[in-house]
Amino acid sequence: MGRSPEGVRLGTGLQEHVRELTADASGTRDPGGLSLWRRTVAAWQAMRGVVTDVRAGTVTPPAHRRVRVTDPSHPPRAGVWTRPRTRAIVGGMDDHREAPADPAGSPESTHATSAEADEIRRFWGRLGLPGLVDVHTHFMPERVLHKVWGYFDALGTLTGGLEWPITYRQEEAERAGILREFGVRAFTAMLYPHKPGMARWLNGWAVDFAARTPDCLHTATLYPEPGVEAYVQEAVEAGARVFKAHVQVGAYDPADELLQPAWGLLAEAGIPVVIHCGSGPAPGKHTGPEPIARVLSRHPRLRLVFAHMGMPEYEEFLDLAERYTQVRLDTTMAFTDFSEKLAPFPPAALPRLADLGDRVLLGSDFPNIPYPYLHQLHALERLGLGEAWLRAVCHDNAAELFGL
Ligand SMILES: [Zn+2]
Repeated sequence: MGRSPEGVRLGTGLQEHVRELTADASGTRDPGGLSLWRRTVAAWQAMRGVVTDVRAGTVTPPAHRRVRVTDPSHPPRAGVWTRPRTRAIVGGMDDHREAPADPAGSPESTHATSAEADEIRRFWGRLGLPGLVDVHTHFMPERVLHKVWGYFDALGTLTGGLEWPITYRQEEAERAGILREFGVRAFTAMLYPHKPGMARWLNGWAVDFAARTPDCLHTATLYPEPGVEAYVQEAVEAGARVFKAHVQVGAYDPADELLQPAWGLLAEAGIPVVIHCGSGPAPGKHTGPEPIARVLSRHPRLRLVFAHMGMPEYEEFLDLAERYTQVRLDTTMAFTDFSEKLAPFPPAALPRLADLGDRVLLGSDFPNIPYPYLHQLHALERLGLGEAWLRAVCHDNAAELFGL
């Protein structure tokens, strides 16, 4: 990445990805892809005054962030709170508070976190739950996670160019500690490769992480490449309880022939796979309901968990969940003010969400969220689907799925 007068020059990999997206638009395979992409970008431009030139591969951040984000020679340091002072939603739509801008770990931010923890504990305590189960949290090798953060900081294309300040930028052990303070009984380590040759290495790291983090559901990942069946089998034998697949970042077809034996194995073992296959926050070459529907037609018992409720193709992914009884959806970022601005959940689909109440699982995207964790819980509560629905979603469904 280098600096250019137009803005932040995208890395080579990203330029490739952008080329793929634009190629899709001119091709016949996914004629809707670019229009959705354009709508996303246009909505975001209107909100933020940021200019993205897809073909030139540049992103020009809004004026108030230019100084910080156009300086790639100074990547964010771990444990340093680098987000600007922004208004964050702490208590739902009607309760806006100023977010702390002080360094993480300072007395003030510790105080802010423990105040949030108190509110979160009150939330699940009121519901009579023993805590929360969060099926979508990101833990991965620190070096990889810092790259992800750097990407969000630079308003990366795959984020839809959205301004995306990471709320919980602490070190690994501290982040796990925050989840425990929140009363999250079990969580995951959503890690994913963006290229071949990476998944097996990530799975090795995940074995160690699970060993030192007993409340983390041992997570593994996969990628369409020779040997994938063998390392998926290895991960299962090592105790993996959940897999993560990222169709958008990995830019692969989930129905790729190379993946078929692995899907078969996971379906047979009944191991859930949290899969990001919706086209939010920005579409990828193989995102959307169609490619994953081809997977399900071959592996109807595969326990896919559609991340982000399939945002923005909510209704098409609800169709799949209604058709395949082992399919589930995670709530990650859905219904929050942040997501509702760009990809609002259709109110007409709420009854379907109520009917699928035993197959919706709490997910948050912690720590990579641009608002406090509590907001996700309030976003679920304000759907008005009732306490029984909230109990199932925030704890019971996942507890049953994972035998907790
Ligand atoms: Zn995620």
